Amino acid sequence: MKRRLFRFPLVAAFASLAALPAAAAPEVVTDIPPVQSLAARVMQGVGAPASILPPGATPHGYSMRPSEAARLEAADIVFWVGEGLTPWLEDAIESLAADAVSVELMEAPGVALLEFGEEGHADHDDDHKDERAHKEDDDHKDEHAHKDDDDHKDEHAHKEDDDHKDQHAHKEEDGHEHHGDMDPHIWLDPANGKAILAELAARLAEIDPANADAYKANAAAGAAELDALAARVEAIVAPVRGKAFFTAHDAYHYFEHRFEIESEGSVALSDAAPPGPARLHDIRSEMREHGALCVFIEPQLDPKLAKTAAEGTGARIAALDPLGADLEPGPGLYPTLIEGLATSLADCLAQ
Ligand SMILES: [Zn+2]
Repeated sequence: MKRRLFRFPLVAAFASLAALPAAAAPEVVTDIPPVQSLAARVMQGVGAPASILPPGATPHGYSMRPSEAARLEAADIVFWVGEGLTPWLEDAIESLAADAVSVELMEAPGVALLEFGEEGHADHDDDHKDERAHKEDDDHKDEHAHKDDDDHKDEHAHKEDDDHKDQHAHKEEDGHEHHGDMDPHIWLDPANGKAILAELAARLAEIDPANADAYKANAAAGAAELDALAARVEAIVAPVRGKAFFTAHDAYHYFEHRFEIESEGSVALSDAAPPGPARLHDIRSEMREHGALCVFIEPQLDPKLAKTAAEGTGARIAALDPLGADLEPGPGLYPTLIEGLATSLADCLAQ
């Protein structure tokens, strides 16, 4: 005990001297493992970001544990996709992390937003249904017709100029869901992954200028890695392009849009509500009609519904994981997750 008391000031002195040249890394908190992975890439050599959602949990409905709430309370900055993905997180950030910088990645420059991939996605909500039906008729066809870079930019510029203001006005009125009709699964397009890397680096540099160069260099290196990743994915999915499949929930529109493959539908129409018997009957008819080769279950969702829907259709059951439930957290999770989607799709559809 005596010895410890004697030694402590020396150790403390050394520790503070050693800490002098580089400032301590900020406390960074992210919502889901893929965002944590991109933040870990940007912070490599500087610090490690935390993630609120544990592996295997679905972001669409979740109750934070006390340890996760404590993490949020300690945050200097919170990076999250947006309330369209994690409606429960918005109030939590406001009450627990009021002093932290809150960055919604759906609003980040360069992140291209898409409508949900399927008609009637929000069948559980009549107001949304009308909205969606209107969007499907007008915008969706255009969106699919234009795939080159210029049109993407236009799409985004339009959103920034027109929709965005409306959405914010809307938000002030009812306090939530201002991206409610945009698909929140933005990370599943590596081009959005690159935009997220740039946003992470820019916002981290603002609160931690001492490490700004490291963040910038990491983001640039990470972006080059994602270009290489996209080229690998392209090669993997090319042979199975045009083959019919269904997914467990409507999460893959960004991936499909980027790599020009498209599911014929998903078993669960809504992220929040499981399908009823009538829906399962309809989806089974659709699977037969389209000659679906595969239906993809997810680690975060009950596989029974997809298996029931596929019964008697001849479709194989395989798994897709949009969140990286079984992957080791860290900088490698994101590219492994994206390449894993391509491999899972191609492995099942090529059989
Ligand atoms: Zn989802």
